[in-house]
Amino acid sequence: MAKKLTRSKLVKQLDTIFSTYIRRKNSVNDIATCFTCGKEDHYKKLQNGHFQSRRHYSTRWDETNCQVQCAGCNVFKFGEQFIFSQNLDIKFGEGTARRLHIKAQKIIKLSDAEIIEMIKRYKTFVDKI
Ligand SMILES: [Zn+2]
Repeated sequence: MAKKLTRSKLVKQLDTIFSTYIRRKNSVNDIATCFTCGKEDHYKKLQNGHFQSRRHYSTRWDETNCQVQCAGCNVFKFGEQFIFSQNLDIKFGEGTARRLHIKAQKIIKLSDAEIIEMIKRYKTFVDKI
């Protein structure tokens, strides 16, 4: 029987597959663009940046909250949150950043089964890209 994965390992698996999905779906010929500074690079060298921090589980795997970022913006400039919010409103419509900010405050409890389901779903999405 397969060993049951711990909660943190499941979350890590979902983070990994979700990050691949976000970067690949935003790539053209494997090249993606940083959402906040416009730098282009191979998707493998870029990161999945979160507008609202990953500590908020209700937006941690939200496809609008998560956009491709370079390490410079995501890590060294702490996500460039102000520019991130402006670009979200430009790309997805006025009020998007505000809506995500409100959504991030909601407390959600995902079961292990729901996380496993999401891992499967995003694996399927990545396979189709
Ligand atoms: Zn950048």
